[in-house]
Amino acid sequence: MKLELPELAFAKDALQPHMSATTLDFHHGKHHNAYVTKGNELLDSANLNAETLEELVKASAKVGGALFNNIGQHYNHSFFWNSLSPQGGGAPTGPLASKIDADFGNFDNFKKEFVAGGVGQFGSGWVWLVADAGKLKIVKTANAECPLTMGMVPLLVCDVWEHAYYLDYQNRRPDFLSAFLDHLVNWDFAAANLAKA
Ligand code: MN
Repeated sequence: MKLELPELAFAKDALQPHMSATTLDFHHGKHHNAYVTKGNELLDSANLNAETLEELVKASAKVGGALFNNIGQHYNHSFFWNSLSPQGGGAPTGPLASKIDADFGNFDNFKKEFVAGGVGQFGSGWVWLVADAGKLKIVKTANAECPLTMGMVPLLVCDVWEHAYYLDYQNRRPDFLSAFLDHLVNWDFAAANLAKA
């Protein structure tokens, strides 16, 4: 199985002013692409059995090291692009909204926990909304780690590596996380993931 850089589902300038075309040029075109290239080099000699990217992430996690880091970063970034939408942001509706109210108390509490998770991730990493044994939770992971290898179902993710926000927000990670929730988050993607969980 080979890794492939996915096309973005939106134009590079469609998320402005919340995420610039320059950020996407670097983040998708350089950073993500580098994980794909390096991951494929390492996969050539790795002999892993996997039919899907999810299986590949789990198989490579058992090997660890650069192989997992590059495959994990490919999975995490692909998931992140799907977590963004030019029509995104605001509150979800339907079963996902009810589930968020049930498990976080209300939507504002969810937002506070999500931003606190992203701000609290020391150094590089990710903040996720996941389903864990039927309950929604905020989970933060370091570097290339992801909830798939912890037996959880990812619903959406925000990248909190500095390369995700530094060109647009400099050191203001909390502002980036708020902009993600208010203007960019793709609730349709999260709802579809919840329906499969
Ligand atoms: Mn990134």
